[in-house]
Amino acid sequence: MMKALQLDIDGRPALKSLPCPEPGPGETLLRVSHCAICRTDAKMSLAGHRDLSLPRVPGHEIVGKDETDGSFYLVWPGHACEACEPCRSGRENLCDRMRILGFHRDGGFAQWVTVPKASLIPVSPGLPGRIACLTEPLACTLNALELSGLSAGQRVLIFGAGPVGLMMALSAHSLGALVHIVECDSLKLELSGRFREAVGVEASTGCPDEPYHVAVNAAPSPVTLQQGISRLKPGGLFCLFSGFIGDFSIPGALLNELHYRQLRVAGAYGCTRKNMMQALSLLADHARIAELLIEEVIGLEESVDAMDRMLSARTMKFVIEF
Ligand SMILES: [Zn+2]
Ligand SMILES: [Zn+2]
Repeated sequence: MMKALQLDIDGRPALKSLPCPEPGPGETLLRVSHCAICRTDAKMSLAGHRDLSLPRVPGHEIVGKDETDGSFYLVWPGHACEACEPCRSGRENLCDRMRILGFHRDGGFAQWVTVPKASLIPVSPGLPGRIACLTEPLACTLNALELSGLSAGQRVLIFGAGPVGLMMALSAHSLGALVHIVECDSLKLELSGRFREAVGVEASTGCPDEPYHVAVNAAPSPVTLQQGISRLKPGGLFCLFSGFIGDFSIPGALLNELHYRQLRVAGAYGCTRKNMMQALSLLADHARIAELLIEEVIGLEESVDAMDRMLSARTMKFVIEF
């Protein structure tokens, strides 16, 4: 048996003792060393998620040890079919038959997890697990910026100074872009101060007037769409990175702005294995800065409490250490 956090059939999180999973064909059993908590994990226990089936052990930001060879691995959380058109064109995050760890199958909020061998990415022994487990969300930001076509010297506007907005800033900075973060919550702006200083990113509570090549939302408010589009240079791109919450409508005048100024809107969801490898090396190069993204390293027993605290939306990342 193993200790795990499981969302029950109603989505309520509880600590449980569950049977150890058995690896199927093409799978490996990992002893989880670290699993970071994603805001999605905290939110979906209340609101559900398109890809979630219950009951479920959540957790998709996993680093674990293969006890048969003693190596540590990062886990790309998808399980793609490798045969469909998106898979064959290097967009396996859009696989027609995608199954995601922590959503469709049990994830890393447990002492043991089984994962497809094809999803394993080796972690060099020098990089601490608590840092390496931040790779997946960072990789999602790299996917978004790649789709946005952001390049060196261009200006990017990021909405949201939560951990993911900050990771987006680190990714954009690594591409040589000039980054500005908008965060309307001044407390969150303050919390992110040390990280922003270390990366060299400016921020404000209001939206600056300058024009940007790319705007991207790491915040779920639909207002960011209107604000972002209005700040784009002609031909600029708004990347819809965080899904919007609540009911909202898009004014016709906003769509006409896309027409007259040849603007583009692109969605981004998840990441590819290639994005994860890029993100892992970015983290290895900036391990001390990445450390500032961690609010607290906790035990599994504290994870239910941590998910509650995250819903306040004013925390950095919690990392579960086993
Ligand atoms: Zn995540
Ligand atoms: Zn596929």
